[in-house]
Amino acid sequence: MKYTINRKYLLIFSLLVSLQMVAQTNNNVPTSTPNKPKLVVGIVVDQMRWDYLYRFQPFFKDHNGFSRLMDKGFSCENTFVNYLPTVTAAGHACIYTGSVPAIHGITGNNWWDNYQKKGIYCTQDDSVKTVGSNTADAGKMSPKNLLTTTITDELRLASNFHSKVVGLSLKDRGAIIPAGHSDTSAGHVMNAAFWYDGQSGNFITSTYYMNELPVWLQDLNNRKLVDSFYTQNWNLALPKQVYDKFCDKDENPYEARMFNSQSSSFPYNLEKYIRKDYSKISGTPYGNDLLLAVAKQAIDAEQLGKQETTDFLALSFSAPDYIGHSFGPNSWELFDSYIRLDATIASLLNYLDQTVGKDQYTVVLTADHAGAHIPEFLEKHNIPAGRENDKDLMNELNTAIAGKYGVADLVTSVNDFDIYLNHEEIAYIKKYVSNTIDLDEDKLKDFISDYLLRKDEVLRVVDFKNVNTVPLPSTIREMLNNAYNPVRSGDLEIIMKSGVMSSYGKTGMSHGVWYNYDTHIPLLWYGAGINQGTTNRHIDMTDIAPTIAALLKIQPPSGSIGKVISEVIKP
Ligand SMILES: [Zn+2]
Repeated sequence: MKYTINRKYLLIFSLLVSLQMVAQTNNNVPTSTPNKPKLVVGIVVDQMRWDYLYRFQPFFKDHNGFSRLMDKGFSCENTFVNYLPTVTAAGHACIYTGSVPAIHGITGNNWWDNYQKKGIYCTQDDSVKTVGSNTADAGKMSPKNLLTTTITDELRLASNFHSKVVGLSLKDRGAIIPAGHSDTSAGHVMNAAFWYDGQSGNFITSTYYMNELPVWLQDLNNRKLVDSFYTQNWNLALPKQVYDKFCDKDENPYEARMFNSQSSSFPYNLEKYIRKDYSKISGTPYGNDLLLAVAKQAIDAEQLGKQETTDFLALSFSAPDYIGHSFGPNSWELFDSYIRLDATIASLLNYLDQTVGKDQYTVVLTADHAGAHIPEFLEKHNIPAGRENDKDLMNELNTAIAGKYGVADLVTSVNDFDIYLNHEEIAYIKKYVSNTIDLDEDKLKDFISDYLLRKDEVLRVVDFKNVNTVPLPSTIREMLNNAYNPVRSGDLEIIMKSGVMSSYGKTGMSHGVWYNYDTHIPLLWYGAGINQGTTNRHIDMTDIAPTIAALLKIQPPSGSIGKVISEVIKP
């Protein structure tokens, strides 16, 4: 009995001691895990090919932008997009989710919904409204079509929503997808995406995130920085001889006439757009400088990298994509824009040194996809190339099918060379009119395949249903498996011959296919927690997010299928 009482007192005593220990711990809340970066800056350079790092390297040195990341950081030299199509929305989704369209659902910038029979834009959300301008459509945007978590979502979850996340880009999808699903209920902790509205010249957001722009962004919008960039016009940054030596000719019939209906040659007059056309800046290097100005304001006003938990700034530079599309990888315009982007990145790094502190932040720089050379430029040099487009292919197929079977519109859409069939109509024919029309899905697929293979541009037509049983190099097979989402994908994928791109005009270039020119992207790591070095090992784009997760000691995003790039992280 005595023993029992003693034991009871002992228990109460122990409990009191424990409670006191808890109380003491509460008075002295542990700080975040040491050596974690204060800020992660994710930089996507839209359409940046890996080879630009080396083609332009001699001209990067003075600025200390790309070369600082390359010399002092870690470069994964053989990083590839591992799904189709290689376009902006899917690229940003892959970088930030570590996943692929089959899982994260972003199967393109646009896709055809074969159930609803309508096209869907990747970040379209008709339930929300524009905040920051009067352009109604520009702000009907949110991440609701993104099915898995992002690394930024995971950072917020891990920090109990104390980490701040800001996504910035000229493109809505370049800002929205990286910023994740964004819990705005916390209110006081910044967690948002802002993008550029070319109609008003303002950076905007949507009611998904907030009902009013932060004051710092309203102030920046009121300054109309675009006009001051326009006053600088666009002249060559380096002596003319340099461009003569390293680029194609300045004037070519296959370049778009972006700023002058008569020519595609320097110098470009931009002053004529002042107060008249705020969209043009996106296709000039000043688009990058405008984004930098907003980024610096965000870092400053939102005090990014100033708290114990890690913050995340997701920047996507869209201008390189617009410039690439218009003028191509070997143009004076593209070369010039990268010389200037290097200075822009150097300015960003210097700003981070001053505000967050040297060695206190981590930078990850990559691209959402790369890009092809202009077909006519390649043909000029006897390299195979060509142009095809979804709309013509769909019309051509429907005409051929109607000619053979007497039925219209059995192809409901062709999107990123992905063919969608009208399943309901085909089933109806099979059930009710099989005595007059000898057609089912397999017969239609065979007909389409036969028809397309007679075209000069087409290499293969692959049925998603038997992608794993037909002879196909494993690289393409894996990319197709990673692409396929039963609701958002079609039935047959056209694999074009090398050099053939999706194109609606006779000028400029594009991207979207599986070839190395569209899939080989840069991947640079720099700063807190990052080793110095390079690897030539094959790395998938899906490895980026789990590596950031490992660096931050947080969960990889929910749908991540990538592997940690161990060499990058300091032990
Ligand atoms: Zn593009």
